[in-house]
Amino acid sequence: MTSPGFNTRAIHAGQEPDPATGAVILPVHLTTTYKQDGVGGLRGGYEYSRSGNPTRDALHTALAALEEGSTALAFASGLAAEDTLLRTVCRPGDHVVLGGDAYGGTFRLLSRVLSEWGLEYTPVHLDDPDQVRAAMRPTTRVIWCETPSNPLLNITDIETTAAVAHEGGALLVVDNTFASPYLQRPLTLGADVVVHSTTKYLGGHSDVVGGALVARDPGLGEQLAYNHNAMGAVASPFDSWLVLRSLKTLGVRMDRHSANAARVVAFLVDHPAVASVLYPGLPSHPGHEIAAKQMSGFGGMVSFRLRDGEDAALRVCERTHLFTLAESLGGVESLIEHPGRMTHASAAGSPLEVPNDLVRLSVGIEDVDDLLADLDQAMTL
Ligand SMILES: *Cc1c(COP(=O)(O)O)cnc(C)c1O
Repeated sequence: MTSPGFNTRAIHAGQEPDPATGAVILPVHLTTTYKQDGVGGLRGGYEYSRSGNPTRDALHTALAALEEGSTALAFASGLAAEDTLLRTVCRPGDHVVLGGDAYGGTFRLLSRVLSEWGLEYTPVHLDDPDQVRAAMRPTTRVIWCETPSNPLLNITDIETTAAVAHEGGALLVVDNTFASPYLQRPLTLGADVVVHSTTKYLGGHSDVVGGALVARDPGLGEQLAYNHNAMGAVASPFDSWLVLRSLKTLGVRMDRHSANAARVVAFLVDHPAVASVLYPGLPSHPGHEIAAKQMSGFGGMVSFRLRDGEDAALRVCERTHLFTLAESLGGVESLIEHPGRMTHASAAGSPLEVPNDLVRLSVGIEDVDDLLADLDQAMTL
């Protein structure tokens, strides 16, 4: 038998009908503890729900199948996953190289929390392998890469960066939140660990905060699994169930997000108020060729800069109706935001500061003509 395709895995991996009842959808196992058949007589290894829960385990199986990794773990948030990962693979005195436009929360975790515990970091332009190599130290344990990045949609070549990491004895971690495994599978390109904020496309309906790690190497997977339990930032059974429910439609959602985003980009490129459009699907985007090579579509995130500066950017954000002014991304509904004042405000004054004339769209799966009409009225003075 050939191995099942992505959508088949998304619907079935880890999600057999319940053997006891035949229920086609896995139950939410809302239990903290499990009856033992005699002391230590565990059924299926279940003992306590921080350590193991059947609903969360099903999500682990599904995520590992989708990212093609050995081990997947579900966390209470993306940042909880990142914290557990960094404190598993790094020790005080170690060093992390990260993209200069990493997610603001990732930068804050390194610069405000883990730096206090002796972890050092260097922001670089990840699209320049020489700069990455130059930033590497004997103590570098991790290259942290987000591609496409948030909110500038920069593209990093995963294969090249994995080679640089491995030459220097470091791990390549890829935050795959923007692409999702439907569009990009970093572990198959040499990355060691994939990070997700499942809050975004994997959850897909703006109703669950969660995170995930997926490891390629089973040994590293075991260490992460140990700390998943020992540090305790696990996903709840209900949150796990919501993400599992959402994974089933990930492929059709990402196809529609990508198609709608392409139409929105075509509209913006021609608009007189727009100075530039940042989208890896545009042939003029500096990372277009690499994106076309390592992604199977360009996704639903679009950023653009306004000719008339910050005031114009703020005005557009406040004048849309269908695009809701809100942080976060990756849900079925379209969102608009001003990164400089909202999601990336914590990066102000740092090397990760974003331009103040920038607007970010999370293009949803509504009828695209309605989205275009909304942007058109918001951008007409
Ligand atoms: C949202 C986000 C995170 C953080 O995830 P939370 O679930 O909010 O903790 C990390 N990386 C990227 C790219 C994100 O968009």
